[in-house]
Amino acid sequence: MTRVELIATGDELLNGVIVDTNSPWLMERLAARGLPVAQKVMVRDDRPAIVEALRSASLRSDIVVVSGGLGPTADDFTAECAAATAGVPLELHQATLDALTVRMSKRGLTVGENNRRQAMVPAGATVIANRFGTAPMFEMTIGRGRFFFLPGVPRELMGLCEEELFPRLADLVAAAPLRRVRYLRCYGIAESALDQALAGLPEAVAGLSVSFRTTLPENHVGLTVTGSDAAEVDEKLQTATVMARERIGTACFGVDGQTFADAIGGLLRRARATVATAESLTAGLCAALLAEPPGASDYLKGALVAYADAVKESVLGLPVDLLAREGAVSEAAAVEMARRARALFGVDYAVACTGLAGPAGDASGQPVGTVFTALSGPSGDETKKHFFGFERDRNRRFAAYAALDALRRRLL
Ligand code: ATP
Ligand code: MG
Repeated sequence: MTRVELIATGDELLNGVIVDTNSPWLMERLAARGLPVAQKVMVRDDRPAIVEALRSASLRSDIVVVSGGLGPTADDFTAECAAATAGVPLELHQATLDALTVRMSKRGLTVGENNRRQAMVPAGATVIANRFGTAPMFEMTIGRGRFFFLPGVPRELMGLCEEELFPRLADLVAAAPLRRVRYLRCYGIAESALDQALAGLPEAVAGLSVSFRTTLPENHVGLTVTGSDAAEVDEKLQTATVMARERIGTACFGVDGQTFADAIGGLLRRARATVATAESLTAGLCAALLAEPPGASDYLKGALVAYADAVKESVLGLPVDLLAREGAVSEAAAVEMARRARALFGVDYAVACTGLAGPAGDASGQPVGTVFTALSGPSGDETKKHFFGFERDRNRRFAAYAALDALRRRLL
């Protein structure tokens, strides 16, 4: 197996001033090509630290992608460190200097010592012209590793990877085992419960591995199958998908790119049904989610944000004594909001939610994170009490999902 390593350089990265976006971008693309990254190292702009990182990588990795420190400034000395690690001198790369001279003279500038420094590369390195910027990319072998040195500027790095790096790895990509991933998107089931439901699955399907990731409030299961024969890998992935869905049940709402809103939209479409929302603490989040898929106007008819009690009464039409008696954060209020919205918008289904987003509570004394959701539809009304107990943002997001999930389950 080809061992791939990334080295990201820069003080800014380790001071937390900029986030390393280059690495995940590269990792995703390398993994998709069957060359998953085994290790990533982040180092400061410090000669001994960079040399040590390069030396270690040269002992353990086959492909090493180094980013940053190829510029003309005093903190750019990756090429110098590469030469020191390989035990070769730096030498002037004339074509790079010529290209730099042309580029600069076009802008009325003359080449200075800094620019000359930028054209210095380790002796024996293969220089690859950088049409996205001034610092050249270069490739060289040190120890076990084939090293690729790239500028840190994301636009330049991405352009050079697409045009120069990936094509240079074509042989390795062709020889790499096939790897296909499918994500099952779930809602309303904890990661631990998913783990239990899927226990034994990797043993049942050879070459399968199961992983988990969370994008709250959703939990996603990753099914990865590796092998050498494409048809066989696809078939195994299909088998694993069917088995996993059977075990997870209705908590799994979609696969890969199919979002929660896509799933609900598909069900509404199939039922030729329309929907509207009446929302208090979510203030339109339910409607915003429903409106995500293109063509949502086929089923989403409208939404009413009834935030203040007075609006719940005057616009939505809740009976005055109801709020006084039960409170706005109550089962009775949620059901009545859904019923009124269903009538007001003339739709098949209406979802509603009311609750305490926080951080402050209300006079009712119920804990922050208490939410009531309701669904009103042709076969009746239902309501549910939830307790989320997170901070404001998450309480609102969880409330919207809970309200919409009742609709999804009704339509299944
Ligand atoms: P330059 O010619 O701009 O000096 P360079 O190859 O020397 O290019 P760096 O100096 O390390 O690269 O980084 C230049 C800029 O690119 C940084 O200031 C930062 O904004 C961005 N950058 C560098 N590394 C990364 C990274 N890993 N992820 C995201 N952005 C990065
Ligand atoms: Mg720089």
